[in-house]
Amino acid sequence: MAKVKGLRCRECGRDYPLEPIHVCEFCFGPLEVVYDYDQIKSNVSRDKIQKGPPSLWRYLDLLPVDEPSVGLSAGFTPLKRAERLGEALGLRNLYIKDDSVNHPTLSFKDRVVSVALSKAKEFGFDTGACASTGNLANSVASHCAQAGMNCFVFIPANLETQKIIGSLVFEPTVVAVEGTYDDVNRLCSEIASDQGWAFVNINIRPFYAEGSKTLAFEVVEQLGWKAPDAVVVPAASGSLYTKIWKGLKEMKEVGLINEVKTRMYGAQAEGCSPIATAWAEGRDFIKPVRPDTIAKSIAIGNPADGIYALQTAKESGGGWETATDGEIIEAMKLLAETEGIFTETAGGTTVAVLKKLAERGQIDPDELVVVFITGNGYKTLEVLQDEVREPVRISATLKDFKDKVLAKV
Ligand SMILES: *Cc1c(COP(=O)(O)O)cnc(C)c1O
Ligand SMILES: [Zn+2]
Repeated sequence: MAKVKGLRCRECGRDYPLEPIHVCEFCFGPLEVVYDYDQIKSNVSRDKIQKGPPSLWRYLDLLPVDEPSVGLSAGFTPLKRAERLGEALGLRNLYIKDDSVNHPTLSFKDRVVSVALSKAKEFGFDTGACASTGNLANSVASHCAQAGMNCFVFIPANLETQKIIGSLVFEPTVVAVEGTYDDVNRLCSEIASDQGWAFVNINIRPFYAEGSKTLAFEVVEQLGWKAPDAVVVPAASGSLYTKIWKGLKEMKEVGLINEVKTRMYGAQAEGCSPIATAWAEGRDFIKPVRPDTIAKSIAIGNPADGIYALQTAKESGGGWETATDGEIIEAMKLLAETEGIFTETAGGTTVAVLKKLAERGQIDPDELVVVFITGNGYKTLEVLQDEVREPVRISATLKDFKDKVLAKV
């Protein structure tokens, strides 16, 4: 495949062939997909992309897949001008990239899974698997069902009910592990080297991670081929955040845009903020933490891409910030009330961090800002149980309606 050269170790730079492998044999660094940008540049154009399918596969020239076969409808989600949220935050040029309506399982994970499992099919795997904080399990289970693959998903046992049922309905084997996501991940790394399965975020991780770039590609295209001044991105492992940056730089590299001056801001929940804490303390390494937050989808205490996420913040002139559980819930409600978008706790984290950056003047009122909403609020209903008003209960009479409803509004 001419567009992809192979895999390369991020640490020591050793080259590897295009295989389902993810760590360097010499230094244990993570492997990353390397492209032939000259070849891509001669083949890609705005026009060609615009004539492509209304899905993330319109950017196939910049993805490590030959023939997409799984997740053909993922991506190309709305980019919404957020006037009312912008007004509330004092930002005049704010946009929401809304992956809460991604297809088919309502989170950004449908992007990474489409790419990972299409690649896994090309490699000849018949079983898909993952270590998940919830959304990934939903997406892997759905995509294995549509692809007719066997499926095993591993989750921490204390996940939200909606996310557990949202996996079970596709009939995979759901393994609920007593422990944190980091315990699940450690176990899955052992299982991955033991079984011949496509663990999308372990042995297929270099390919999985590339799917996140499509969020950057879409935003740039939807803005009329322009990179934003600043973006706010939620982070668990830090993969999404670093790959949005990679995607922006690639668009410049292959000549689709002339300039990238985007400041990358990362958002974490205060109860699980190993990357943001390292940033605040000026460290270039991560100290793992034990997660304690309602934002379970981004609760990774030992983030695989943490150090690269710190480098990205430095390189782009951005930074990292946190939100408390209370601020997360307030921000979920603010987004719902102003824009009619119901996001989960991860989206609440992102909006809460955006609010802090705006209040502190780290984002200028006229700058072009994009905030990434990566998950859907129907999957974390339980956190709002005591945070929303009760329905007004009445008998089916006009009198009750007038006395108990109209009289009180
Ligand atoms: C997985 C996830 C993220 C970020 O994941 P990374 O591991 O940092 O790539 C963000 N938001 C939601 C809703 C997620 O499920
Ligand atoms: Zn290496």
